Amino acid sequence: MLSYFARVGVALDPFCAYVLSMTKPPTALIEGYLAFKQGRFVRERARYHELAELGQTPEVMVIACCDSRAAPETIFNALPGEIFVLRNVANIVPPYQPDGEHHSTSAALEFAVQSIKVKHIVVLGHGRCGGIKAALDPNSGPLSPGDFIGTWMDLLAPAAEAIGDNTWLTSAERQTALERIAIRHSIDNLRTFPCVSILENKNRLSLHGMWFDIASGELWTMDSDTGDFAVFEGLALDEELIED
Ligand SMILES: [Zn+2]
Repeated sequence: MLSYFARVGVALDPFCAYVLSMTKPPTALIEGYLAFKQGRFVRERARYHELAELGQTPEVMVIACCDSRAAPETIFNALPGEIFVLRNVANIVPPYQPDGEHHSTSAALEFAVQSIKVKHIVVLGHGRCGGIKAALDPNSGPLSPGDFIGTWMDLLAPAAEAIGDNTWLTSAERQTALERIAIRHSIDNLRTFPCVSILENKNRLSLHGMWFDIASGELWTMDSDTGDFAVFEGLALDEELIED
């Protein structure tokens, strides 16, 4: 639909047109929503209706980075209601700290474990992570006086300093190393939460580490005993599915 100014024949200078465009929701979102409402929502209407009536019961929680290139629902091809997703900068889980302050990651974790009663928690890291890159960059300064990101990434400071000082590694190797250390560190911190450690000891909750390579689409899974990562070999699984 034409804007009021276009309909009455008033030509706006570029700045006014820019300001007016900024007051509207992003076109890409509106078009995307329309495509969803007329396509996927129609096909999955019964599922959405059931989820609305019965509530959500996902068995898997995924803790992932905010990065727009590594969305868990896309990577795992998940349907609505299938995975409970928490995203923050660099997929970090802070240690258990019941101090009365505002802890959004801990609140979401508490809800997933104690209310939804998920059976698996996956910490999903990814390649080329901007948060990890900033943690390794000694010249990266605060973005604001509050420096929320810097304070958040301090959770990885000891590892970042140790890796950053290692001149035997290339820049890319340091980056990948800290991305995977961050996953192991988050899993260690998950176990500082009593609700997690108690259920894990009762074998009612499992913790997993994964790393996604944006460029290749590879998924690397962490060995729970050694902490090593190996690329997921999905070909055998694919062949089984094809035979079925
Ligand atoms: Zn990231």
